[in-house]
Parts: sequence; C-alpha cells; structure tokens
Amino acid sequence: MNVEATVNGYYEQILKRNAGEPEFHQAVAEVLDSLKYVLSKDQHYAEFGLIERMTEPERQIIFRVPWIDDAGNVQVNRGFRVQFNSALGPYKGGLRFHPSVNLGIIKFLGFEQIFKNSLTGLPIGGGKGGSDFDPKGKSNREIMAFCQSFMTELHRHIGQFRDVPAGDIGVGGREIGYLFGQYRRLVNQHESGVLTGKGLNWGGSLVRTEATGYGTVYFTQEMMGAHGERLDGTKVIVSGSGNVAIYAAEKAQELGATVVAMSDSSGYVYTPEGVDIELLKDIKEVRRERISVYAKETDHVKYVHGGNIWEVEADVALPCATQNELDGESARLLADNGCRYVAEGANMPCTAEAVEVFRKRKVHFAPGKAANAGGVATSALEMQQNASRDSWSFEYTDKRLRDIMRNIFKACDRTAAEYDKPEDYVVGANIAGFRKVADAMLAQGVI
Ligand code: NDP
Repeated sequence: MNVEATVNGYYEQILKRNAGEPEFHQAVAEVLDSLKYVLSKDQHYAEFGLIERMTEPERQIIFRVPWIDDAGNVQVNRGFRVQFNSALGPYKGGLRFHPSVNLGIIKFLGFEQIFKNSLTGLPIGGGKGGSDFDPKGKSNREIMAFCQSFMTELHRHIGQFRDVPAGDIGVGGREIGYLFGQYRRLVNQHESGVLTGKGLNWGGSLVRTEATGYGTVYFTQEMMGAHGERLDGTKVIVSGSGNVAIYAAEKAQELGATVVAMSDSSGYVYTPEGVDIELLKDIKEVRRERISVYAKETDHVKYVHGGNIWEVEADVALPCATQNELDGESARLLADNGCRYVAEGANMPCTAEAVEVFRKRKVHFAPGKAANAGGVATSALEMQQNASRDSWSFEYTDKRLRDIMRNIFKACDRTAAEYDKPEDYVVGANIAGFRKVADAMLAQGVI
C-alpha cells in the first residue's frame, strides 16, 4: 500500500465533502499526518472503511433556537449537536455559545473530542455542540430564555446513556444550571448524568470547575519532569481569562511559577509579579468584567489593548483561549524569547505552522487533545459519581485527575517512541487515541 497516496486520498475526500469548514480540515489533517506512521506498520487500519467512517460524524443535528430579548424582540439563533463517535461510550463533549460558532467549528471540536476522550481511558465517545448565540452583554433573564429554548430541542437527542453535554466557551455553571433545569422539566425525571459541570448540591463534582486548567498544568509538569525541569521558579504566559485560563494560572502559581500575562479577546495584561487569582476570579466569575479591569484595580500591571500576548518573555506558554490564537510568527517570537514548553489548554489554539515552528526550534509541545483532557476526564468522574449516587472529596477527585493526566502523558510519550518519533506528543496523542477507538470500531462491525 502506498501510505502517502492513501492518506492524501482520504484528505481529498474530506475537502470535497466538507467544503467551507477550514477548522475541521485542519484538525483532520493533523490526525491523518500522524496516522501515516500507523498505516505503515498496521495496514488493517485502512480496511472496512475505518478512516472514512471515523471522519464522518454518526449524526449531525442543526436546529432553530428562537427566544425573546429584554426589549420584547424575537431573536433567532442556530443550535448544533454533532454526535461524532460512540464506539467507546455515550457521546461526550461541551457546548459552546459564541458568535463564531458554525458547523465546521463544532465538527473540528467533536473530531478532536473522540481522541481526547479515548486518551482519558474512560468509557466516553466524542461529540460537541453549541450555538452562534453571543452571551456577552446579555442579561441573566436573556441567558435563561436562550438556554431554555436551546434545551427544548436538544433534550430529545441527549441522555445519560446517549449523549452527555458539558460547558465550553460561553457555557459555565450558570448556563449548565438553566439547561439542566429545562431538561428536568421536559423529561420529568432527575437524570443527573445527562449533563456535567453541574452545581455541587445537585449532582456536580468537586474539581470539575478547576479540572481543565489544573489538568493542563499537571500535564505540563509531567512533560517538564521528563526533561529534568520543574515549573517552580518559571515564568508562565496564560492566554484567555475564562474557565480554563483562570485555573491553569491558579495551579501554575500554586506550584511556584509566576504567571506574567493573561488576556481576553480585547488585549492582555502584563503581570510581572504574578496574578492575584482571587481578584481575577472576582472580576471574571462574579462581576463578569473584562481583563482590562484587572489592570485598573492593581498596581504594577500594564494593560496592552489589542496587543499580542505571545510577545511577553516566558519559559512556558499555556494558550487557553480559543482556536488558532497562536500563529507561526507568534511561535517564533516565543522561541526567540526562550520559551521551552507550550501546552494547549484550549482546543487547537496553535496553527499548524506554529506547531511546525515548535518542532524545528525544539520547543516541547503538548497538543490540546492530551493536555486539556482533564476537563472531560473529570466530567466522566462526575458521571461515575452520579451513577453511584455518591460524591467524592476534593482531594480524592484531584488525585484521580492527576493520575489520569500522568497516564495520558505516559501513553503519549510511549506511543511516540514506539513509532520512532520520540517526544513528538502530537504523534503520540493522535496514535494512542486512535488505536483504542479504531479497535472498538473494527470489533463492532461496519455501522
Ligand atoms: P470561557 O468562555 O470560560 O473563556 C474563554 C476565554 O477565551 C475568554 O477569556 C475569552 O475572551 C477568550 N476568547 C474566546 N474567543 C476568543 C477569540 N476569538 N479571540 C481571543 N480570545 C478569545 O471558555 P473556556 O475557558 O471554557 O474555554 C477556553 C478554551 O478551552 C476553548 O478552546 C475550549 O474549547 C477549551 N476547553 C475547555 C474545556 C472546559 O472544561 N471548559 C475543556 C477542554 C477544552 P473574551 O471574553 O474576550 O471572549
């Protein structure tokens, strides 16, 4: 078999059948690139239309979401749920509310989720959903009205054994509350396993809020440890200032690092003496304000409106905002400034060119599907607690998260070495995630 030609053939089909979905193309291209190494060794993975099936969602649902704003006007948004792959367990993946959401973005996220969920070692399939609804500037009542309308359609497609959504950009504890309330009302049962990221006194898990950010830092620790380095004493950039960013910053500082910059989509703050996490939480989680407010309320902090956060000097960079926020030029800047480790807290925040720069410049790089898997892993732990009507302590759950991140790092490291690509955690993550799903799909027949 000519592996190169076979893989190029898959990719041409992807481009043809999924026109106008560049983020989906990008995510598939990265995985296919790694699969060349698998197919060169194990050609049976090219049989039974396996790759063609894996790159085609099992089901894609698109629906209208009408709601009424505070001025009494009818607003219409578009809702999505892409149920990508359920070979390992019920579809699992977050909901994103952001004006940039379209089918291609949800498909890229759902596709990544398949491999990420597989890497956690827990029985969860891959899915993702969301809407082009913009939560910014909306009142609480408007958020509730939107969530209720969204769930009025979504509820027929989800369930604890079918599909279990969670949060993502624009969907946090408040939105999960409104979504869960409406689901419960519609189905007339308290099915706590249908959503994760719930409040602690109605089925939520300790550590879920912190899990993605903490997990990214645990993964970074493992990666640094493998090279004889520690986070303690390093300077770290964390982009974004949402759920993932806040808790990545918190854990990095707890472990002795100094977070020297954070951002939102308007600009970044330069914080050479570290970030006051409690103040940041108050500004972002309670008052729901912009990161510029942080600079106003602190000394020695500079706000750079519209600036590029990657120009700040640091040893470690944790992109935790959104896809393609770190391009080739920014990657070169980071490397020139001495950055040695990059771990993706967000999904696909580094462009393909940026990843190539990191490879060439020997910057150790952890892809999101491995480094940010702690969020979904803890969601799966929340499902376990719901199923057994139990709730675990913070310490126990955090230890489970740490063990899972360590195992994911080991799997990536081992698999990369097995395919003669030592320390290439992109190849390691893609292949380790792929093999489990592929074996399950082959065992379950052509469906
Ligand atoms: P939040 O909505 O809590 O925060 C998102 C942050 O990213 C905000 O600071 C936001 O700034 C910034 N941001 C969003 N869009 C853009 C943009 N187009 N340009 C620049 N900045 C932007 O989301 P999360 O923290 O939950 O998610 C962040 C990333 O992590 C996403 O890629 C998500 O898919 C990924 N992720 C999240 C998980 C979770 O458990 N929440 C799990 C795994 C991955 P602003 O307010 O200006 O928009």
